[in-house]
Amino acid sequence: MVELASLSETGDVQNYVGGTWKRADSDDGQDVINPATGEELAFVPFSSESDVNDAVATGLEAFDEWSTTHVEARIQPLFELKQLLEEHQEELAELLVQEHGKTLPEARGELRRGIENVEVACGIPSMMQSGTLLNAAPDIDESAVRKPLGVFAAITPFNFPGMIPLWFLPYAVATGNSFILKPSERDPLVAQRMFELIDEAGFPDGVVQLVNGSVDTVNTLLEHEDIAGISFVGSTPVAKHVYETAAAHGKRVQAQGGAKNHIIVTETADLEFAAAKTVASACACAGERCLANDVVVVEDAVYDEFTDLVLEEAESQVVGYGLDDGVDIGALITPEHEQHVRNFIETGISEGAELLLDGRDVTVEGYEDGNFLAPSVFAGLETDMVITREEIFGPVFGLMSVADIDEAIDVLNESQFGNAASLFTGSGLDARKFRHRADVGNLGVNVGTSAPMAFFHFGGQRDSFFGDLHAQGEDMIHFYTDKNVYIERWPDN
Ligand code: NAD
Repeated sequence: MVELASLSETGDVQNYVGGTWKRADSDDGQDVINPATGEELAFVPFSSESDVNDAVATGLEAFDEWSTTHVEARIQPLFELKQLLEEHQEELAELLVQEHGKTLPEARGELRRGIENVEVACGIPSMMQSGTLLNAAPDIDESAVRKPLGVFAAITPFNFPGMIPLWFLPYAVATGNSFILKPSERDPLVAQRMFELIDEAGFPDGVVQLVNGSVDTVNTLLEHEDIAGISFVGSTPVAKHVYETAAAHGKRVQAQGGAKNHIIVTETADLEFAAAKTVASACACAGERCLANDVVVVEDAVYDEFTDLVLEEAESQVVGYGLDDGVDIGALITPEHEQHVRNFIETGISEGAELLLDGRDVTVEGYEDGNFLAPSVFAGLETDMVITREEIFGPVFGLMSVADIDEAIDVLNESQFGNAASLFTGSGLDARKFRHRADVGNLGVNVGTSAPMAFFHFGGQRDSFFGDLHAQGEDMIHFYTDKNVYIERWPDN
């Protein structure tokens, strides 16, 4: 069992409502398990409808005062939170590895990207300003004024439990709203520890709250009449459900879904560099990333040479417990998910792709109960194969050969998803074609994983995103505020 001051006496994960820790009023719930060791870390009870109602009512009450608190006062707890997150980054990273399974350097990196969002939100006094025009009409001056809207909630996935809550929380509260987080029930402990730090950071009670739970808890949030808006990150079917249900209940919604991403390698690319970045992109975080590029589209002229390089790199990956030194690939989140990934490998074989490297037969000494897979690499991918079209979410990728950059861009534009794509090339013209034609949210040129900095929005198109305003950066200011127009006439006569 893990030890956190905010867990209940029986080691259960708790909610943080109105500035106090409270166990959800329900016996329904699930164990939080270390995916590498099989150790039970805690139990997470699923919040009932009355738990959600309490948090929303408390958030609404807190909104009254918080929304009229001056902006400099609103960002002070965020500066404090940044400091606390940095002071406790190592401890948070270790906890994250234990409940999620990724490696310690990956966990540290994830937390840094999360803290980056707190830093950006501290700039709200500038970012939240709107335009004013003197003499917009005779004797008339006109301004647009941004105002917060009420209580917002974010529902987040298991794969970045430290970072993704911070795509939303800092901006929601900096703009003057109150905020409720519903983290993934599979790894809720990092959020729990972060809320201990939030408690120290000095937010007024009820402004930032934590409600744990699963499907029913989410549905209560989506249908609640006092919630102004919902942010969601998770799989595409749930993203669609969230988008439709929350919109039908009159809310603003941004819902980020699953993905299937591509890397294009042209004959002018630095092939060794591209091979290293390809394996890192597909296999880091055990492939459990919405930005993992796992369809590798290579120009014919360098297909064989690139295949050899990528295989060599994939074979060198060390699989193991994320807290141990020298590990490249940690554990997958659950045995069920490991089986799901294994099924994709079977599917790939049965639909005729050639399995060049089989990562299924791996044991990690001392961690026999862990959910481990080494990299698996396919060759001969075709556009209509299941392993080319569907999200695998494991350390599995495949190579496809194409004639040129135009055919490669057609391949990624045919995908159901449009989350991310990378191009490795030495040609400015190829890069320009990619920039102009690729119908994808996050594009990288000679960058393996195109994860935008917090001051840019996190792109996503087609079935990877439902809504219009994205997570992070300036889009968040628009999502969390409405704009009034203020028109004044003071004639000088
Ligand atoms: P998930 O959809 O299973 O769960 C996400 C959240 O939704 C969790 O908090 C969960 O409690 C809740 N949930 C699950 N099923 C639900 C249901 N039927 N009704 C209502 N709520 C439900 O996703 P996951 O497995 O935790 O995360 C992995 C997925 O998230 C992948 O598809 C990945 O691509 C995607 N993802 C996308 C992005 C992005 O930016 N587009 C980022 C990270 C992860």
